[in-house]
Amino acid sequence: MKFALINGQRQEARPGLRGTCPACGDPMVARCGKVRIRHWAHLAKLVCDPWWEETPWHREWKALFPIEWQEFVQHSSSGEKHIADVRTERGYVLEFQHSPLDPQERKAREEFYQRMVWVVDGMRRSRDKSELLRTIEDATPINPTLWRLRGFWDECALLRDWCGSRVQVVFDFGVNDLWFLFPVDGTVYVAIFPRAAFIEFHRTGSGAFAQFYPSLVHAVTDDLAKLRARALLDQHQARTLVATGFQRYVAWRQRSRRRF
Ligand SMILES: [Zn+2]
Repeated sequence: MKFALINGQRQEARPGLRGTCPACGDPMVARCGKVRIRHWAHLAKLVCDPWWEETPWHREWKALFPIEWQEFVQHSSSGEKHIADVRTERGYVLEFQHSPLDPQERKAREEFYQRMVWVVDGMRRSRDKSELLRTIEDATPINPTLWRLRGFWDECALLRDWCGSRVQVVFDFGVNDLWFLFPVDGTVYVAIFPRAAFIEFHRTGSGAFAQFYPSLVHAVTDDLAKLRARALLDQHQARTLVATGFQRYVAWRQRSRRRF
């Protein structure tokens, strides 16, 4: 962990320091070796929160937000507690996810945190970015930053892993844009948006992202309505075709009967 408590104050690890865990209260020791980034470790156990994960990528993301928002200990009414990577002033939990996550565990975390955003490390598997870009090539562009994916999008492992999520999911490929995943009723959309504006929104509650997200929801809703209208029309045309086919068959039977 990045922080432990020393005399009630959050402190980063420095050689020789001892502190206590902000979540479980157990003693912690500062680890300042040469291989891993400086961190705090529990003295007597591995971790106290089974959901805990920290990599240099986590540290970079956490450092973009005020210290008091980082490693926020969130309690539920039943007494369960977990350490959120970042909890913003406006009550959003940002969870930075590097490792693969079992769907059941993902669901449990979404139910625990409620108002949360997954920021997923898209750089863990080397093929993830190219698979996503290939999927976009076959997708239907809705506007310059939004695409509706066609069938076979589940050949992209990243989409397959995350499209069951009920909260915002963002993929980080280490570039200036973040990729947003937007699954609705079996149809999957993806959109891109500048990383800086996403960070600004969660830091300040304002900026371009405040308009982007509602406009994304609007564009997706609009597109879905068009899709449904087209599907209804197709159904109607199919019924008409069946009806005319049947009428042709009846006429043919009548003609055949007259002949024999
Ligand atoms: Zn602990």
